[in-house]
Amino acid sequence: MTSTLNIPFDNSFAELPDQFYTRQDPVPVTAPKLIKVNEKLARLMGIDPAELKSDDGVQILAGNNVPDGASPLAMVYAGHQFGGWSPRLGDGRAILLGETIGTDGIRRDIHLKGSGRTPYSRGGDGRAWLGPVLREYIISEAMTALNIPTTRALAAVETGNKVLREEGPLPGAIITRVAQSHIRVGTFQYHYSRGDKDALRALANYVIERHYPDAKQAQNPYRALIEMVMDRQARLIAKWMQVGFIHGVMNTDNMSIAGETIDFGPCAFMDTYHPGTVYSSIDHAGRYAWAKQPGMAHWNLSQFAQSLLPILHEDAQIAVGIGQETIDEFQGIFSDYYFEGFGKKLGLVTLQQGDPDFIGDSLKLLSDNEVDFTLFFRHLTGYTQSTLAPQSTLEQGQGDENHKEKLQNLFKDSEALTNWLPQWQSRQDQETTPTEERLEIMRTSNPIFIPRNHQVEAMIQAAVAGDYGPFEQLHSVLLDPFNEQPDNAHYEEPPKPEEVVHATFCGT
Ligand code: AMP
Ligand code: MG
Repeated sequence: MTSTLNIPFDNSFAELPDQFYTRQDPVPVTAPKLIKVNEKLARLMGIDPAELKSDDGVQILAGNNVPDGASPLAMVYAGHQFGGWSPRLGDGRAILLGETIGTDGIRRDIHLKGSGRTPYSRGGDGRAWLGPVLREYIISEAMTALNIPTTRALAAVETGNKVLREEGPLPGAIITRVAQSHIRVGTFQYHYSRGDKDALRALANYVIERHYPDAKQAQNPYRALIEMVMDRQARLIAKWMQVGFIHGVMNTDNMSIAGETIDFGPCAFMDTYHPGTVYSSIDHAGRYAWAKQPGMAHWNLSQFAQSLLPILHEDAQIAVGIGQETIDEFQGIFSDYYFEGFGKKLGLVTLQQGDPDFIGDSLKLLSDNEVDFTLFFRHLTGYTQSTLAPQSTLEQGQGDENHKEKLQNLFKDSEALTNWLPQWQSRQDQETTPTEERLEIMRTSNPIFIPRNHQVEAMIQAAVAGDYGPFEQLHSVLLDPFNEQPDNAHYEEPPKPEEVVHATFCGT
């Protein structure tokens, strides 16, 4: 069947030799039904959203038809899953259709997830159910609105087929995921572990060309590649932590070389702050807890550097030295991003010597008092606004007492806040950045709306019952996370005790 859908494909990964993938079409489904198309993203990618929504478009999004110009394939990769080595993973339920170059000049992958079995499916059915598809759609778009690098959602469809999971038969769905690329740390590990130096070099050159062209100028481009990947990852993890995001499954096969958040399996945003917070039902040891994420990224990046050893230097000893030296810089780079970001959340724009300790102590105060992470920074912003710039954008009738009370109500022991505020205030007083500018930095660092677990779960339950209203509503609220939305104020609220979600599931 030919299609009238016009996607301006410009495929480059499919031009690489066949050690990198297996050519494979998506497996057709019974009764595709459109859930949503991301119109803005479609336009950015040079695709007409109306065409995507048409019957022809939906057949393509469901994998029943392959559009002209696509080169469908399943990518191969390996990975450390919870520390254990898996020599061959790969796209077991996903197909890369191809790439387009957007109106912004950025090359992006179009990838169907949940599109049927591939040679890498192992025991799996190659499918996804509606829950994780909607989770990924909502959370990846929320991350975009929060200015956090991430893969994106171009569309979601129901398949009309049931998939069998522990819970029983569930509605099947497919998400069209868009990424700057789907190359992972695990992609490098795969070729390294097979001793295929030519493939490794071809892959590294491809990645440099596509994502890090500046590395070509460096004396040792592969060393520069490690540094650049590390910098993006350090920045990414710091950004996650600043919105209370816990990825949940930071295996090396789920770490993107382009530095985007990828794989929204059991991820979650924490409500009450605690550094040891874990939601994933399979993360029994808390390996990927909120505060462990930088250490895990560091570990994953060491695997990346190790995979590049054969091309880092022809002398193996020297190569190890270069790799080690490069990776040892991670902690310093990460700390700078971390404290800079948390400083901004607290309104401390020009960091001073004692600030890291002050930030650490402040977070300790939040965990001791079981404070809601998002609301603390949100009300601190409101309080700052009412005390520092009462004439600015303040709503009528919201004096600083009101904000102070809102802050106080978040603490188990309100004395704790009373003792902390003067310390924060005196540190504020030393800031030289103009007040309005500082407030704007706080405002844009402290979201009001995050995808809270209980809302995400309620949205999924409604959709499974056929009601997409909550999905549309939550999606729309999360697209504007930094501004007050008086009609949607209930979306700010943490879960009531009976609504708390204690565990999230991979949903594979
Ligand atoms: P994940 O934990 O989602 O990152 O997936 C790890 C590996 O398992 C990847 O190779 C996936 O392609 C594969 N996988 C996950 N779910 C399925 C499924 N339902 N069918 C086939 N393969 C799957
Ligand atoms: Mg994965």
